Amino acid sequence: MSVLRNIVMIMGVIAALMVGGVGAASAQTQVEPAAGAQAVVEEDAVDAAAACPARLTAKMCKLYKAMLSKSTSGKYKWDSIGCYRQDSLPYHPEGRACDLVYGKIGKKATGDNLADGNKMKNWLVKNHAKYKLDHVIWQGRIYSARTNWSTSGRPQSCSGVTDCHRDHVHVAVQR
Ligand SMILES: [Zn+2]
Repeated sequence: MSVLRNIVMIMGVIAALMVGGVGAASAQTQVEPAAGAQAVVEEDAVDAAAACPARLTAKMCKLYKAMLSKSTSGKYKWDSIGCYRQDSLPYHPEGRACDLVYGKIGKKATGDNLADGNKMKNWLVKNHAKYKLDHVIWQGRIYSARTNWSTSGRPQSCSGVTDCHRDHVHVAVQR
């Protein structure tokens, strides 16, 4: 009888601890509703950003997703991509530019890589207004409002495969 009572008491204590624990946790959440609400917003932001490379602006992230859907459809396929990074120009450090590598960095794109890069460049130029592009660079030519988004662009002043964008399509969006 006394053993049973002890067990009942112990179970009661455990139940009380469990309820207390849960109660304490939910009370803590409720004590700071502002912090809780903020955490939810941050979670959403993290989830939305998770689909894009780190530190992209909303415009660049939207473009990235569109480019990715093009890429995964089997066309326009890039081999690697780099977006946010330090640079002397503001585009990459501001998270509003990506480099789509066709083949390997430092190696001039040829064959399918060149064809895929051309397709992506053409798609970007065609959709510049929709995605609020600032400029596109590929194969030593710059495409932007300066040349009314002409499909022939203008020549880039550059030297070397990577500097002249012969291995990657560079695309930047407006602020
Ligand atoms: Zn770039």
